[in-house]
Amino acid sequence: MQENLQNVLTQPSATLSSSGISVDMLRLDLLHPVVSGNKWFKLKEYLSEAREQQKKVLATFGGAYSNHIVATAFAAKESGMQSIGFIRGEPGKFPSHSLLTAESYGMEIRYISRNAFRDTAQIMKENDHPSIYWIREGGYGILGAKGAATILNLVSLSDYSDIACATGTGTMLAGLLKSALPNQRLTGIPVLNNADTIRNEIHQLLTTAERQKNFSLQAGYTFGGYARHTPLLLESMRSLWEAERIPSDFVYTGKLFFAVKDLVSKGYFAEKSKVLVIHSGGLQGNASLPLNTLPF
Ligand SMILES: *Cc1c(COP(=O)(O)O)cnc(C)c1O
Repeated sequence: MQENLQNVLTQPSATLSSSGISVDMLRLDLLHPVVSGNKWFKLKEYLSEAREQQKKVLATFGGAYSNHIVATAFAAKESGMQSIGFIRGEPGKFPSHSLLTAESYGMEIRYISRNAFRDTAQIMKENDHPSIYWIREGGYGILGAKGAATILNLVSLSDYSDIACATGTGTMLAGLLKSALPNQRLTGIPVLNNADTIRNEIHQLLTTAERQKNFSLQAGYTFGGYARHTPLLLESMRSLWEAERIPSDFVYTGKLFFAVKDLVSKGYFAEKSKVLVIHSGGLQGNASLPLNTLPF
């Protein structure tokens, strides 16, 4: 997917900016219509290690709506590898849109009970094979962060005082922090109610020096929890689309954009700040909403 990097662009967002603060958006969603922008970056170092080790199968974990599952299936297909997705829970009456997409990329889906899913080490032990390369749920890990660090190669980094992104496992945030300049502040918007553990999980992906860099997690924008949404959230996604034709998803970027607008209005960013917001993709997640909920 290297060749699609030329599709990515940075554009100002009038909706998120104010008179004293300018906000640009890095449109990683333009990388691919289905594969989340940031998931591709997080996977690329794992892929090259898997190739080096001459593995034939990528195996990973996720929920039925996981962007990471879809991206892994796609990455495997593109690299001529097989893939297995271990999915949390029982098969539903209808498979989710994400799982159907993953299967269309050739992924083998195996359901694991919620209880057994808690012990991924055991699942790996029971299913291990020399041809398998294992990737943690959500692509969490140091190689994932290393891949995400290259996201900032796409922008004129020194133009910005602030960078903001949505935070799930924290892998992307850790990667961005690795590349951020010393005077920049990185703000993560957690999309899960995991404020107590996420800071530590990010720290585990950083060197001692990187831990001293300026990053802040702004909780309070989960809209009830992971993949939850409210009419207010959907309304703010619709108005961003109507004003600027920027699509967002209700799990990650919708919450991020809402949060950035809110933080701008509350004076979180200093006057004259230049903020880079990462549009990390994830649009396929909207397929789980009822038809016509969103205009895009
Ligand atoms: C997975 C995902 C994230 C979160 O990335 P982490 O590295 O897990 O924090 C953000 N945005 C989108 C669109 C995603 O799919």
